[in-house]
Amino acid sequence: MIDFRSDTVTKPTPAMLNAMFNAKVGDDVFGEDPTINELEEKSSDMFGMEAAIFCPSGTMTNQIAIKCHTQPGDEIICDKLSHIYQYEGGGIGFNSGCSVKLIDGNYGRINAEQVEASINNKNDVHKPISKLVSLENTANRGGGSCYDFEDIKSIKKTCKANDLLLHLDGARLFNALVAKKESPKDYGKIFDSISICISKGLGAPVGSVLIGTKNFITKARRIRKVFGGGMRQAGYLAAACIYALENNIERLNDDHHHAKQLATALQQKDFVGEIMPAETNIVIFDVKGKYTAAELADKFKKRNILVIAITKTKIRMVTHLDITAEMITETIEIINQL
Ligand SMILES: *Cc1c(COP(=O)(O)O)cnc(C)c1O
Repeated sequence: MIDFRSDTVTKPTPAMLNAMFNAKVGDDVFGEDPTINELEEKSSDMFGMEAAIFCPSGTMTNQIAIKCHTQPGDEIICDKLSHIYQYEGGGIGFNSGCSVKLIDGNYGRINAEQVEASINNKNDVHKPISKLVSLENTANRGGGSCYDFEDIKSIKKTCKANDLLLHLDGARLFNALVAKKESPKDYGKIFDSISICISKGLGAPVGSVLIGTKNFITKARRIRKVFGGGMRQAGYLAAACIYALENNIERLNDDHHHAKQLATALQQKDFVGEIMPAETNIVIFDVKGKYTAAELADKFKKRNILVIAITKTKIRMVTHLDITAEMITETIEIINQL
């Protein structure tokens, strides 16, 4: 099977397993797991921020950040396709009792004018208090689109002028950093909190890290425990994450190249409508004419290729560490035959 369903499907390589096998571990709830401590320090250093906390998932890092930044009744501003709103089980309401102001962005990206227009009047008692802006980079449902850093800076300005905090869902931030040749330290200067996933394109089996100020992370540690995310000898997992950060960032360029090759092949087909700009490792396209999205996904499956029909008309294909150049060639041959 050639599995394009998600970049979460990667399995640890022998070298990564070896790093895990040799990890020194301890009870992390007591703060005694040296490998987790190392991962947290490495992550915060990378972004030039004060502290970090290791969590089992990106949903948890996002939800902890939202909980720490808000009070029940506050409002969060984000794009309508955001993972925090679409794919975290209603956690914003469930965990934090907040409402959401959704912005109709550009392939999952919002801009400063839209943020400005979404801020409620503080003196109007009818309105929830606008408290937090959350960006997603790359934007998953925007087809892996990346922000221009200048646009992020403008959003930060608007946040500062209006007492809003700024969170980054950076589940695939490293894809954006590599594609745009940007530095994590620039991001660290702007955001109040950053969530990164190491279990996506970087290829670790499990793990996300939330990064921020010391005070914020102290609060996050309490919330992680309350959410049931305090882990014990999880240094075995952190070892895989350290390995991934040290070995698997630059190679994301290969995934991006593979995604562009897929997009180019798909473009030739009359059953393919709009393809979102395949800037990183995600290709989302409209299916039209002779197939529905589900039928096309089924055609692929019969030829040992797994894709996801994310709506009735859209298919998503994601490239990752376990997709080789040969698999791309094979997939393109099959696309040509369909
Ligand atoms: C995958 C993903 C997450 C986190 O997902 P988990 O499966 O909970 O780790 C968060 N945001 C985006 C944009 C994602 O794609």
